[in-house]
Amino acid sequence: MSEQYVCTVCGFNMVGHYPSHCPFCGAPRDKYITAEECSRLYSVEGRKITSRVTQLLSVPRLGYEHAAYRLEADNKIFWIDCPSCFDQSLEPVDTIAFTHHHFLGASNLYRSHFNAGVQINESDSNNKLASRFTFDRTLTGNFSDSGLEAFHINGHTQGFTVYVFDGALFICDYVFVKPGDMKFNPYGPQLQTRKNAARITEIAQQKEIKVVCGYNYVEEYPTWQRKFARLIEN
Ligand SMILES: [Zn+2]
Ligand SMILES: [Zn+2]
Repeated sequence: MSEQYVCTVCGFNMVGHYPSHCPFCGAPRDKYITAEECSRLYSVEGRKITSRVTQLLSVPRLGYEHAAYRLEADNKIFWIDCPSCFDQSLEPVDTIAFTHHHFLGASNLYRSHFNAGVQINESDSNNKLASRFTFDRTLTGNFSDSGLEAFHINGHTQGFTVYVFDGALFICDYVFVKPGDMKFNPYGPQLQTRKNAARITEIAQQKEIKVVCGYNYVEEYPTWQRKFARLIEN
């Protein structure tokens, strides 16, 4: 494995360099481990969400920890976002599709290992945090592929994309969820995040969403929607 470090505070992978501070969270070098150590100390485990959707999480929890999701589509396997820990024992993936450029995880290592295609919206592909990662496809607008539907939302990041598959909506960190409460992700343009949220409601209603898969939660759609509607109104 070539030079790569993982920040244990946030999970960000530093590819091919050893910066003085984590480019994502600012943690100093003593919080880094090598990607090899990371693979020894952590694994990635799956939890079934629907018959064709599995949540992937690092065990033990790695830094902030963000969930990725494995989708069994008609003739290929997708991941939505990517685990920070490189675990070679996972089932192969064909395409890693990102919601945005914040949780790129160890996608470069999975890409090589599984010969997977990596894709992200064009607007997020040239962000500084993404500069050391390879994208095989950069996309604009909405698209669908093998039963996976993608909707470009903008908002939290310019390229922010939500996905719909098997009655599940994949929304990553567009909102932060607590029991009985929700807020827009404060790390991004607030006005734009709020404005474009209405589009997410439209999509969810059109697509008869049953469950919402976020970066650190999975919630039944009606529970989630009540909080989301209140947030948009306020
Ligand atoms: Zn970090
Ligand atoms: Zn984000």
